[in-house]
Amino acid sequence: MKNTRKPLIAGNWKMNGTRNSVDQLLWAIKSGAVDMHHVDIAVFPPAIFLAQTEQVLQGTSIAWGGQNFHFKPFGAFTGELSSGMLCEFGCHYVLVGHSERRALFGETDQIIALKCQMALQTGLTPIICVGETLEERNDHLTYQILRQQLEVIFSLSDDTNHLHQLVIAYEPVWAIGTGLTAEPEMAQDVHAKIREWVAEYDEKAARGLRILYGGSLKKENAQFLLSMPDIDGGLIGGAALNATEFLDIARSCNAP
Ligand code: PEP
Repeated sequence: MKNTRKPLIAGNWKMNGTRNSVDQLLWAIKSGAVDMHHVDIAVFPPAIFLAQTEQVLQGTSIAWGGQNFHFKPFGAFTGELSSGMLCEFGCHYVLVGHSERRALFGETDQIIALKCQMALQTGLTPIICVGETLEERNDHLTYQILRQQLEVIFSLSDDTNHLHQLVIAYEPVWAIGTGLTAEPEMAQDVHAKIREWVAEYDEKAARGLRILYGGSLKKENAQFLLSMPDIDGGLIGGAALNATEFLDIARSCNAP
């Protein structure tokens, strides 16, 4: 049976861009995406450019989101911003648990769970990023690591309502920014396993859950990866900084 999940292509711009280059990128994506009704598109610029993003993209079908936020609603957290602030600037999504946040900024599974909870409370859709390192993969620990990263999210609440509001991104750490990509069949196996785990809690949520692949996704490898039955789109870093490449990837998604 054909699934009804609409693919999502999300561009994580990380700490890149200037006022000028962000403007150019936003306008190029906006004009190139007008006829792309078969796919949802979202961009994640650095937070300081969110007002600019809102100005260019409001009224279009392109969504935007924050790369990070604090799990508290307000307070003495110098340098941080809250999920409420992201909402004020029209964000629909927020990235949670990106491997760079885990590895470089010490975010634990517990912090990630608190962030997920706060995002949901504020009405943001969290894109929960999970992935194993190369060492963990070589040690055959992939499923164990992923299950551990996800279990804190699955058990956030006694009911399973929150599982209907998540997006999950499988991003093998060894594939992020390295030019290495997971083989489509290998990524498919992991995505199917994640869906199976969600189904243990809520079958309907599992059927509707969008699971994105991330890790050196480019237009050359997108078609194979994105045609896999349990890969519902992509989270894209490097290639998202080029509007043509980003839109080419979006174009290669199959309609649901
Ligand atoms: C990412 O940072 O989420 C990512 C997938 O990066 P890249 O596409 O550059 O590997």
